[in-house]
Amino acid sequence: MFDSTTRTLVVVGAQWGDEGKGKLVDVLAEKADWVVRYQGGANAGHTVQIGEKSFVLHQIPSGILHGGVRCAIGNGVVMDPETLFTEVDELVADGVDVEGRLYVSERAHLVMPYHKLVDKASAASKAIGTTGRGIGPAYEDKVARRGVRVLDLRSPERLRELVTTGVERANAQLAWSGSDLRASVEETLAALAGLTPRLLAIADDVGLCIHRAIRNGAAVLLEGAQGSLLDIDHGTYPYVTSSNTTVGGAATGVGISPMALDAALGVVKAYTTRVGNGPLPTEFDEPLQTQVRTLGREFGATTGRARRCGWFDGVVVRYAARVNGLTGLAITKLDVLDTLDRLAVCTGYTIDGEVHTEFPADLQMLDRAEPVYEWFDGWKQSTQDARRLDALPSAARLYLDRLEELCDAPIAYVSVGTRRDQIIGVHATVA
Ligand code: GDP
Repeated sequence: MFDSTTRTLVVVGAQWGDEGKGKLVDVLAEKADWVVRYQGGANAGHTVQIGEKSFVLHQIPSGILHGGVRCAIGNGVVMDPETLFTEVDELVADGVDVEGRLYVSERAHLVMPYHKLVDKASAASKAIGTTGRGIGPAYEDKVARRGVRVLDLRSPERLRELVTTGVERANAQLAWSGSDLRASVEETLAALAGLTPRLLAIADDVGLCIHRAIRNGAAVLLEGAQGSLLDIDHGTYPYVTSSNTTVGGAATGVGISPMALDAALGVVKAYTTRVGNGPLPTEFDEPLQTQVRTLGREFGATTGRARRCGWFDGVVVRYAARVNGLTGLAITKLDVLDTLDRLAVCTGYTIDGEVHTEFPADLQMLDRAEPVYEWFDGWKQSTQDARRLDALPSAARLYLDRLEELCDAPIAYVSVGTRRDQIIGVHATVA
């Protein structure tokens, strides 16, 4: 939690995404002045349950659900203006006051309609299992130095030039991938023109705003999307997303110094899930796969796709703890395991007869990895009403103790249900 020394906190997923970051950000945002997204785009989907109502937020930081908290979308995000304002309008319809509380970095790149067409038609996107929301192609244009930034909307001539080049390239790519779809310069410009006044009204130098806020002692929460194992550099490449999801990306993606970060909270499920293709060494066989997927409602917030589930992988989370410099762990969805007879935790991989306890970079090695498991008795009772660690069954505490030890990071929170109040603060000062 925020205190006198922890003023700038990063919340990062420490597995393959969908760890429940939305809930943790929602709980922590109560004490925050600012909540800022730093990477990804509308491919993320945080689900926050408030009372009976469930909010799914794709681009807007979950802090928006707390009145008085200011929210920003940093330069590291690739922003889809169309879905941004759909989201804003839905929030307003649900009674959330967004006016004057949402800012967008003028340096953020835009996801254009032609990026989405290319993404959907691309065989490579299908092989990776992307969400088809244009995120990858938008980041490609950013890195190739031909992207469209929010600030370009202020110069119609420059915008037309950039869009014309973008559409030409996109149409060439569509033709190459065998698609009949084509983008149009005029349609793209017309769609943007409809959104430009609203977008420019909230465009700002977000890095400067946050720098000043930190100087003035504000509590700032930087909200990651996806998970560390989907990081473009540190994840299971090429089955990764197009941005740096890890803590290093937080400073860069907001426009503040890494030295300004005080703490990093890694969110992990009490088991493992991953959506899309790529290695998942501890993946369950049937019938456990269907059982845990059903208990945990493991279907994507953005795409509805069934997530692949497996045992907690200590090798993965220890790696994420190191790469991110995690100062605390938030273990979510402990309650999902309440009915299991016994549980396993992966402590290492046997690869070609040798035990590895550090996460390998080479996917071919991971393909051959046989998890080394340690087994635990199930607790076979509900944890949903526990609000203190000592209210948990002793078998659950033993399980959590082992996770903490294996991951080399102290547990700061344990989440035992979807609701805001279903959380146990352990060493609340750690994060
Ligand atoms: P995020 O992108 O990391 O925020 O994760 P998602 O929103 O995709 O998935 C998290 C899902 O798990 C949401 O539906 C949450 O309501 C739910 N959730 C979060 N914490 C808990 C928990 O402790 N127990 C249960 N049962 N569900 C949880």
